[in-house]
Amino acid sequence: MSLRCCATQSAAREASGRLSHLARLRQTGCRALRTIACSCAICATSSRLRKLQLCSSPDARARSSSPRISLRRQSSFPAGNDPSRQIVVIGGGISGLTAALYLARGLPEHRIVLLEATSRLGGWIDSTRVDIGHVGNNERSKGQETALLEAGPRSIRPSGAPGLAMLGLLKSLSLIPRLLLVPKTAPSAQNRFIYYPNALQRLPSNLLSLPKAFFLPSLKGILKGAWHDFRTPSRFARPKSESALEKERQRAREQDADESISTFIVRRMGKSGELLRDRLFSAVLHGIYAGSPHVLSVRSTLGALWKAEQRHGSPVRAALPSWLNKGKRQLTSQEKAADEAAAKEVSRYEKELGDVIVGRMKGISVYSLPEGVGEITQAIVDELERMPNAQFALNAPVTNIVGREARSLKLSTPHSTYSASRIVAAQPSASLDRSTSTSLPWLSHNPGANVGVVNVIFPSSLASHFVSGAKDRLLPVEGFGYLIPTATENVDGVLGVVFDSDSLPDQDVAAHASTGQTPTKLTVMIGGPHWTSKREHSFPKEQELVDIAKRALNSHLGLSKDLLEDRSAVYRAKLQLKCIPHYAVGHIARMRDLDDKLRAHPDFGNGRLVLAGASYTGVSLNDCVLHARRLADRIIAEERAGSVSGGSRSITGLESFVEDRTFALQSGAINLNG
Ligand SMILES: Cc1cc2nc3c(=O)[nH]c(=O)nc-3n(C[C@H](O)[C@H](O)[C@H](O)COP(=O)(O)OP(=O)(O)OC[C@H]3O[C@@H](n4cnc5c(N)ncnc54)[C@H](O)[C@@H]3O)c2cc1C
Repeated sequence: MSLRCCATQSAAREASGRLSHLARLRQTGCRALRTIACSCAICATSSRLRKLQLCSSPDARARSSSPRISLRRQSSFPAGNDPSRQIVVIGGGISGLTAALYLARGLPEHRIVLLEATSRLGGWIDSTRVDIGHVGNNERSKGQETALLEAGPRSIRPSGAPGLAMLGLLKSLSLIPRLLLVPKTAPSAQNRFIYYPNALQRLPSNLLSLPKAFFLPSLKGILKGAWHDFRTPSRFARPKSESALEKERQRAREQDADESISTFIVRRMGKSGELLRDRLFSAVLHGIYAGSPHVLSVRSTLGALWKAEQRHGSPVRAALPSWLNKGKRQLTSQEKAADEAAAKEVSRYEKELGDVIVGRMKGISVYSLPEGVGEITQAIVDELERMPNAQFALNAPVTNIVGREARSLKLSTPHSTYSASRIVAAQPSASLDRSTSTSLPWLSHNPGANVGVVNVIFPSSLASHFVSGAKDRLLPVEGFGYLIPTATENVDGVLGVVFDSDSLPDQDVAAHASTGQTPTKLTVMIGGPHWTSKREHSFPKEQELVDIAKRALNSHLGLSKDLLEDRSAVYRAKLQLKCIPHYAVGHIARMRDLDDKLRAHPDFGNGRLVLAGASYTGVSLNDCVLHARRLADRIIAEERAGSVSGGSRSITGLESFVEDRTFALQSGAINLNG
């Protein structure tokens, strides 16, 4: 197995890696790989080129790596199909595609139909390769140079059950040898910056760098805050009285209570918590959710902190050895059962992956693929296309869902109707709300982040032109990028900047491998909570987003106006509306209520409507895959049991909120910025 490692890979190995990739395509004749190869840099000249949406460089050309599919529509299905064996999946994002894949694999006798509203699959996954230098077109660039742009997710963490579930999916798609791995020791994993108040500050990456960090302006008050946290009693402390009323209050606190991240930090850390919220935590949340600490539920988004108070008395106490911590309490039998179930799930996925991959991934911070995260959706689509029991329809927004008979549902799109024994609804919950005539609660409750994403590329030729002396790079520091907290003056509402080419340089192809120079690639994220008071029509347009990005790169990184305005610099801006759900305070209690109502619903209950996707159980790609796999497993088990014994169906997709009442979400831990 040849896992590819970004930190150590030389240009020569890169070239040979790409060649062996091509050779493998020719030898295996594998269709999935062949499709990917058509969008790889080596084949770039022969591919169909599409103009960039907004691109300030006249030389840049882009090819979307949105999955290509040959549509097989409902009308072409064999006649006389049994609707009791038809499952419709709504939404072709990573959640819907994963659910459809595992259902089609596990239920070969069933027909799996995937309906997608738009003309492309992948949802927020949007990887595009851009040609940025052409012989003859560009004075400075000789030879061909390409860069891979991500308008949505760009990297994946391999940790925890969600990380393992994703790796299991990738293994089953034969994508493990394609992974570009960023080790935990790489500069891009170690160097993370905060821009406060008017300079980049490197955050501590390990215990050794911690003492120095106490003097950083953004971490001022952290020791005082930690001491306050240590001394503040837990809200879950056992009541002194054992009365029934006190016990009920305790139960309610344990199971239903929630608060915003802001309230939690200030309650636990006192006045210092306010400083840390505005100088540090807000920046982290800008990077993960493009969200505000005043809105997001601590229990649903930073569940580990909540759990630390619940079980150990406080987050600081949780870090101490148990003999030093009097606040630690015995786990309840329910908590023990939940922990055991979680450990069992992890070991199941570890077994699926095998020791070599599990061991290798332990040292990895994040990973992606040469053609970006879009390679995953392409590989899923390729496999589904080969399966006789799977079908897609694009441009098929589901506008209405009604329960028809005891066991069958009817879905309408503008051009067709479909019957199904079950529906897996993997579109955003607000979209489901609009299409279900019998209302289910809370589907439109959570707000979503509106984000401007500006991809910026400086072709390698610009480095030799603009960099002088000992410097060999355009950027002043090497690392993951930087985030901007609310305490920094920030009229343009910039959330942060990712140094994509530092994390994953092997996604880009230099004009001349011999010079060692590759393109410099950045992503500027704008908006989120900074736009809360704006109406949609007043969000910046694409050219305004590019101007904001240029101002940020000039003032934060000191990039010169000449460089930023050079005609070979490439800018692409996209406005992503409601792109990341914000789990507001009380999310878990609301999801339990939704679970109850759905279970008891006359049309959609009894396992007929199953909910999936980022609106409910975690927003990272890993979370989406884990929950899609879980619900597919449950449906497969129920269908198999049902086909033998006519057994009852009960799945809603929200089981995790009910099964583990202490900590429903596996991980809210994604990073919007990588
Ligand atoms: C800018 C950005 C950066 C991110 N970065 C990362 C990252 O680095 N790492 C990470 O792990 N995660 C990241 N995320 C989060 C992650 O990408 C998303 O949470 C995830 O892709 C959501 O997948 P999904 O399938 O649940 O939903 P979606 O991707 O929203 O897919 C839902 C699909 O349903 C379709 N649909 C909607 N309504 C209907 C209807 N009525 N009928 C039929 N179809 C319908 C939509 O068109 C869409 O294709 C990022 C997200 C964004 C926006």
